Amino acid sequence: MIKIQEQNLIKKHVKVMSMISLGIESTAHTFGVGIVDDKGRVLANESKSFFPDEGIHPREAAVHHTNHAVSVINAALDSAKIDISDVDIIAFSQGPGLSPSLKVGAVTARTLALGLKKPILGVNHCIAHIEIGRMKTKAKDPIVVYVSGGNTQIIGLSGGKYRVFGETLDIGIGNMIDKFARKVGLGNPGGPIIEKIGKKGKYIELPYSVKGMDLSFSGLLTSAVNMVEKGRKIEDVCYSLQHTSYAMVCEVAERALSHTGKKEVLLTGGVAASLMLKDMLGTMCQERKASLKAVPRDVAGDNGAMIAWQGLIEYKAGRRQKIEETEVNPKWRTDEVEIGYL
Ligand code: AMP
Ligand code: MG
Repeated sequence: MIKIQEQNLIKKHVKVMSMISLGIESTAHTFGVGIVDDKGRVLANESKSFFPDEGIHPREAAVHHTNHAVSVINAALDSAKIDISDVDIIAFSQGPGLSPSLKVGAVTARTLALGLKKPILGVNHCIAHIEIGRMKTKAKDPIVVYVSGGNTQIIGLSGGKYRVFGETLDIGIGNMIDKFARKVGLGNPGGPIIEKIGKKGKYIELPYSVKGMDLSFSGLLTSAVNMVEKGRKIEDVCYSLQHTSYAMVCEVAERALSHTGKKEVLLTGGVAASLMLKDMLGTMCQERKASLKAVPRDVAGDNGAMIAWQGLIEYKAGRRQKIEETEVNPKWRTDEVEIGYL
C-alpha cells in the first residue's frame, strides 16, 4: 500500500518536472549543440561552422566536427548552466545531409546516450527547421519556405505528413549564392556579402527557371558568373541574382498558398536572414491576405536547439529508437516522416 502511494507521488513529481533535451546538429557545415526544455525555452545554442574558401568537402567537414564536438558540447552545458546528468534525452540529426558529417553527430549522440543511459532519438533535419519555426512564431498550419545552403523546399502539412510541394531540381539556393560569391572572389559564406553589395545594384535580366512547382538555380549561377566575367557591375549582378532567385521562390510559395488555401507562410533556413527575400515574400503575402512569419535568426540556420526541440516533441509523443536504428540516412526526405505529434 505504502509502495503504491510512493509510486503515485513519484509519478506526480515526474509530471511537473520539466524535461531537458540536448540536440546535436551536424548535417553539413555546422556542428551545433542546443539545449531546450519542454516549455520551448532555448537554454543554449552553441555551434562551430566550417566555411573553407574553396567550398565544403564532406570529409574535411567531418574532421572539423570531430575536432570541435567536445568543446561545443561543453560550451552548451556552460551556457545552459546545467550538468550533463540533467539532460533527459539526446537528439541528433539523422538526415538528410552529408554522410561523413552526419556520422560524427550520430557517434557523438550514441556515446552520450549510452554513457549517460539516456534515450536517444534521431530526427529529420528539415522537419526540425519547421517545428522550431512553428514553436517560435506560433504559426499553426503554414506553407513553409525552407531556404538553406543545401535545401530549397516549399512544404505544407497534408494527410499527416509534411509534403514537398516544390523544390530545387539541382542545387540549394544558399549553395548557389555561396558558389557565386566564391567564383567571383567575394568570400564565404556569400549570403550576407552579396546582400550588402547588392543594395546599391540595379536590375539586369538573368535566367528565371520555375518548372511547374520546382526550381532550378544552376543556369542562373552560370549566367551570373559570366556576367561578372564580362565586366557587368558586381552590385548589379548581386542585386539581380538575389531578386531573380527570390522571385522564383515567391512564385512557388504563392501557388502553394493558392492550391492549399493556407493563410500563413513560415520562412526558415539560413537564407531566411535575407531582408530582400523577407520583403518580397511579405508583399506576396499581403496581396494574398496571408501572414508571413519569419523564424528568428538565431534558430533559422542550422542549429542544435531545433534538433533538441524536435527530439523532445517526438519523445513526448511516444517515439522511441533503439541504438541499432540510429544509422544515419543522408537522403531522408521530409515527406517520408509520419507526423504523429500533431
Ligand atoms: P543553413 O544551411 O540553413 O545554415 O544556411 C546557410 C546559408 O544561408 C548559406 O548558404 C548562407 O550564404 C545563407 N545566408 C546567410 N545569410 C544570408 C543572407 N543575408 N542572404 C542570403 N543568404 C544568406
Ligand atoms: Mg538546414
